[in-house]
Amino acid sequence: MKNVMNKKELQKFIQKNLKSGISKDLSERIFTSRLLGSNFNLILHGGGNTSVKSKTKDETGEMHDVIYIKGSGSDLRTIDQSGFPAVKLEPLKKIMNKKFITDETMVKYIRKNLIDPSSPNPSVETLVHAIINEKFVDHTHANSILEITNRPDGITLINKLFGKHFIIIPYVMPGYLLAKKVFQMYKRNKNLHGLILFRHGIFTFADQAEISYKRMTSAVSKAEKFLRKEKVKKIPRINMNNLNISASEVAPILRKHCSINRDYVINFRKNKILLNNINCKNIESYLSEGVITPDHVIRTKPKPLIMNLNHFKNINSMEKYISHKFLLFKKDYVKYFNTNKPRKKLKMLDTVPQIILVQNLGMFSLGRTFKESVINGDVAEMSINTIIRIQERSKFKSIAKKDIFNVEYWSLEQAKLKKEAKQFEGKVVIITGGAGTIGYATAKKFRENGAEVIILDKDRQKIREIQRNTEFFCYVCDVANRAFYKKILSKICLTHGGVDIVVSNAGSAVQSTMIEITDKELKKSFDINFFSHQIVASESTKIMIKQNKGGCLLFNISKQSINPGKNFGSYGTSKAALLSLCKQYALEYGQYGIRSNGINADRIQSGLLNKKMLKERAKSRNVSVKTYLSGNLLNREVYAKDVADAFFHLATSYKTTAAVYTVDGGNIEASMR
Ligand code: ZN
Repeated sequence: MKNVMNKKELQKFIQKNLKSGISKDLSERIFTSRLLGSNFNLILHGGGNTSVKSKTKDETGEMHDVIYIKGSGSDLRTIDQSGFPAVKLEPLKKIMNKKFITDETMVKYIRKNLIDPSSPNPSVETLVHAIINEKFVDHTHANSILEITNRPDGITLINKLFGKHFIIIPYVMPGYLLAKKVFQMYKRNKNLHGLILFRHGIFTFADQAEISYKRMTSAVSKAEKFLRKEKVKKIPRINMNNLNISASEVAPILRKHCSINRDYVINFRKNKILLNNINCKNIESYLSEGVITPDHVIRTKPKPLIMNLNHFKNINSMEKYISHKFLLFKKDYVKYFNTNKPRKKLKMLDTVPQIILVQNLGMFSLGRTFKESVINGDVAEMSINTIIRIQERSKFKSIAKKDIFNVEYWSLEQAKLKKEAKQFEGKVVIITGGAGTIGYATAKKFRENGAEVIILDKDRQKIREIQRNTEFFCYVCDVANRAFYKKILSKICLTHGGVDIVVSNAGSAVQSTMIEITDKELKKSFDINFFSHQIVASESTKIMIKQNKGGCLLFNISKQSINPGKNFGSYGTSKAALLSLCKQYALEYGQYGIRSNGINADRIQSGLLNKKMLKERAKSRNVSVKTYLSGNLLNREVYAKDVADAFFHLATSYKTTAAVYTVDGGNIEASMR
């Protein structure tokens, strides 16, 4: 591991920060924390924390000795001063005299001693940092250290390697008891550079940020060097076979088995190293041992679900096997829960796996959101690769199952999970014509309510713009082309696992009388206003049926479907066919819990009803544009947002199908019933 400290850069950083009132201590702390955070072999998605002891004033101007410690929710790679809440140091030391306090009491007590009560929660490892006398403390879950500690002879190896400047703390669950243990052992030893937390990670410390960082990099480098020199044995792999099935076909089936109690996003990944490791013959026994560092259990569960689909010719024949595998996983998890649960009442977490490995195919990772599915995948990938590297050298050993359980069901972790989920969390929504006014307003509406939204549009420029400025998933796609849509849908199955809601919104309009319109123009209108919807609906419905969790088709029809306008025949006739299509889907797929509903909107300023067309439509009715736009029973102009709200309303109307909802400010000729 390279020491990437740059003193000049640090000085510049300190000077710049001093101007904004950030102290030298804190600047140094931020600077080396970021260095640690940008090394994924040390810190992955929040797995580590740093601190500095300093002084600061409270609101009354009174000066306090404090510890700035990483708060929860921050990433060391990008952390700034707001990620380091200041806690009064003396009270933290005082609480160490207690025999025992619960972790909830500890968290409350630490919060009570914050300088700014609105700060994020200080790390659960705050007390460990506080009892160490040195000014700067760095803590990581470095892979190379774990690769050495997580073996049967881990303690002997570490002692041999690190000698007198490091002591080994036996495994204790993070929280008050760990702080207590560290306190006892730290007091007894002099001239320490750091601590190795057995099967958990490493602490280094010093009075200068730079030295603590250097102690971390040199300890990790030492471990890396040791690993490089070790003899590596070949462990047997299964034969590489090309499966008859792709990951995009498997994903919706997995979603069916996972989404019993809630919706999950499922993300797929594969690469040469990961696949080679998943293909180990004994992968099941290696990975059943447990996790490499305790907090991984929150992301990966104690073990993944492993499948081998090599012998199956097609998807139908493997369904029974997959379902059986899920059942076994659940049984096993329930057993683990019942064996390890304490006497007090504890609610069992969802029994579905978080990580699913398919040999010869790759890894699927679940998450309540897309982001979480990727983080869980990152943690699992790193952990699987580490475990196999250990197996190639020795034998992987984890902490005891009971200890894994205690972290998985730790009240402090449970509290994080209990956060109120947004209504559509875990739901995948595709919006066609999503870069247009109505499509984009709809995308925003669903996203605000927690859904994972994927925007499709033909307009490359607009897609690029949205991609640049938002977090939406975007694809350029011509939905009138079946092969094109299928390709994009497969990609979505790989990134998100499938689809729950489709807002089929793409449309176009030309003006002409029926005797003047060319066949080509009329066919083109049907292509986009009817056939593209059929393509999107049919391909998406196939996925929804595979997922077996219902689904929702939402069509942007138009009031033209029942109340045609002059010179607008190509639009009206194709939209009338679309209305019929919407009903047909409701009729045929209601049995699968798939709902099909539509919106008849009218006179909304958009790409389709642009300024030029607005003028022409207003002229054809002999009124001004303003009167045209609010020419309805309520005399109110209708906006894209109103249509978005209506789509959302229909998506949440779980007992409604084959319904068409008008969003037109009131138009009696266009009223449905
Ligand atoms: Zn830790």
